[in-house]
Amino acid sequence: MKGRKLKKKPVIVLVCSIILLIVLIIFIVKTVNELNYRKTIEYKLLQQGYNKEEVSLLQKKTDEDFMNSLLEEEYDRVYIDIITEGYYIKNKLKDYVKYYNDHLNASSTEVVTMVNAGANEEWYSHIKDTDLSKDILMINNKFYKLPSDYEPEDLVDVKNWYAYGTNVKLRDEAYNAFIDMFNAAKEEGITLIINSAYRSYKEQEEVYNQYLKNHGQAYTDGVAARPGHSEHQTGLSVDITTYGVTGSQFESTDAFSWLQNNAHNFGFILRYPNEKENITGYTYESWHYRYVGVDAATIIHDSNITFDEYYAYYIENN
Ligand SMILES: [Zn+2]
Repeated sequence: MKGRKLKKKPVIVLVCSIILLIVLIIFIVKTVNELNYRKTIEYKLLQQGYNKEEVSLLQKKTDEDFMNSLLEEEYDRVYIDIITEGYYIKNKLKDYVKYYNDHLNASSTEVVTMVNAGANEEWYSHIKDTDLSKDILMINNKFYKLPSDYEPEDLVDVKNWYAYGTNVKLRDEAYNAFIDMFNAAKEEGITLIINSAYRSYKEQEEVYNQYLKNHGQAYTDGVAARPGHSEHQTGLSVDITTYGVTGSQFESTDAFSWLQNNAHNFGFILRYPNEKENITGYTYESWHYRYVGVDAATIIHDSNITFDEYYAYYIENN
């Protein structure tokens, strides 16, 4: 009996020591983990006031630099609103932040819209060459320029049945789409007439310089494109009118209303809409339509965005 008791003690001591050691190890591991977690951006953002859902959005849609920059400011819900905007583009994040800091009253939609359209920059600054490989989806605005010798290869003559004046030309695909649109409108008693279509670099230069001479640079840049920046040079744009009206009177015609509801079904969009001057850089032109194909035109029409925004999100971003 005595011998057995003597043998039991070291076993109990050993077991207790092992248990103690395990508890200690668990404690150390937990402490180290906790200390490591406190070093993570997730923990720091949570401390900053961002909730779990917001932190996970930030991790998914932004980058390390941006999240670190948030730690230097107070919690700001606008950043979450910006990254959850429908047309948010991750690689424009720095520009969104800059625009927001320059316009603290701007909504998240305005921030994303203006930056995507390039309208956060001064017009005609940062000029790039138009990517001609985008074909009917090529963009030509105050930041994208066509070469002075660019002339579409598939320009066709528009029959004077459809247009005022002679020597009116359009790209083949746009012309066929216009004819379909013309016929559909005709069935509802509406006549669409092309006032102006393709314009060469040289012709645009003359138009621009004429305005410049009479009205000065600021006014001219609001109403006429600089040479190389006119959509008419793409051969995909048409100025449309109908009987008995000129210029902006077109807006109050049935033809205009018909186009508002139907042009996208034929691949045309109103390119410079009302109250979007700050996005497109052009005053409202109820008569200027651009052919982009049915798919793009439908998205642009249904989402009420400009082609500039469409291009940034769907073309450049891919
Ligand atoms: Zn036009």
